[in-house]
Amino acid sequence: MTKIYNFSAGPAVLDQSVLDAMAQASIDYRGNGMSLMEMSHRSEPVMTMVKETEILVRELLSISSEYNVLFLQGGASLQFSMIPMNLLDKNQVADYANTGAWSAKAIKEAKIFGNVNIICSSKESGYNHIPKELEQNPDSIYLHLTSNNTIYGTQWKTFPSPLNKDSYLVADMSSDIFSRPLDISKFGLIYAGAQKNMGPAGVTLVIIRRDILGKVERAIPTMMNYQAHIEKDSMFNTPPVMAIYAVNRSLKWLSNNGGIHSMANTNLRKATKLYDEIKRNSLFVSPIKEEDQSLMNVSFIFASKREDEDFLSFCDKRGLKTLKGHRSVGGFRASIYNAMPEAGIDALVQAMKDYEAS
Ligand SMILES: *Cc1c(COP(=O)(O)O)cnc(C)c1O
Repeated sequence: MTKIYNFSAGPAVLDQSVLDAMAQASIDYRGNGMSLMEMSHRSEPVMTMVKETEILVRELLSISSEYNVLFLQGGASLQFSMIPMNLLDKNQVADYANTGAWSAKAIKEAKIFGNVNIICSSKESGYNHIPKELEQNPDSIYLHLTSNNTIYGTQWKTFPSPLNKDSYLVADMSSDIFSRPLDISKFGLIYAGAQKNMGPAGVTLVIIRRDILGKVERAIPTMMNYQAHIEKDSMFNTPPVMAIYAVNRSLKWLSNNGGIHSMANTNLRKATKLYDEIKRNSLFVSPIKEEDQSLMNVSFIFASKREDEDFLSFCDKRGLKTLKGHRSVGGFRASIYNAMPEAGIDALVQAMKDYEAS
């Protein structure tokens, strides 16, 4: 059988060790005689596993005790609303960078709760770069950005600093969390849906500095209130235990393979190989400004008019799956998250060479 490489942007590839652990846990979780799906979230084995997952998150990202680590539901999309609902009063302003469709969705929700100052936008140029000129508001409560723009394939390589000392960064890191080292202290809140770089859909990681809470006037429904989830250690209601366990196994795999620094080196090497081939190959070009090219989602298009479907089916026959660009962009996108082995990149590069020669 041909080895399959799944280049999907999300839900995305998971390491085989994670899939094996999930298969086993579905039948008998760590010798408890029950499936993990059947077990109470208040039972000792499950409480221990969730705690262990939190510790893995903390260790991998060197998170200090000022921050809480939460496992919530509703995807990154619910965070678009929860963030301004909890942090931004009606008469206050927050800075938002508009670098893609997910940024735009976050902006739309924030406007429901307060004032939004757009510090920059690359919309007019099809979101093909990260703007360098930022018009920040000195009174802004926080600065929101999308660290990696999954759909287009751009990534903030360094993060801007908020203008005033009480302000902080809020980042949607759905598609690049755990891919590179981070200085957590610049951030008040980081959030990420699991299904790109750390697990399946169903759980959203939120890393939040406690002292930013409790400052807005409005009443907040309990399920939307970070404070409620903090007080109950992410068990205010039934948490998505299976999804959390998959995150646990993914982070364990990451930790066993050298942790974030080692992964960051591998990610750079993988992406460089692919971008080098896009540059060398006469058939393909990158639509993205070079310095802003994402190491996670590599988008490329034909240099001159050709049928996308022809290259997609050429790849598909070789087991290289889900390379179609997002429907709003077209062309191709290879999502090469942590769990994509380097052999997958090699196979894709070879396919691009063979296609050129065919
Ligand atoms: C996929 C994605 C989202 C949406 O995530 P959901 O969990 O489906 O809500 C938001 N932001 C970014 C950057 C994404 O890649």
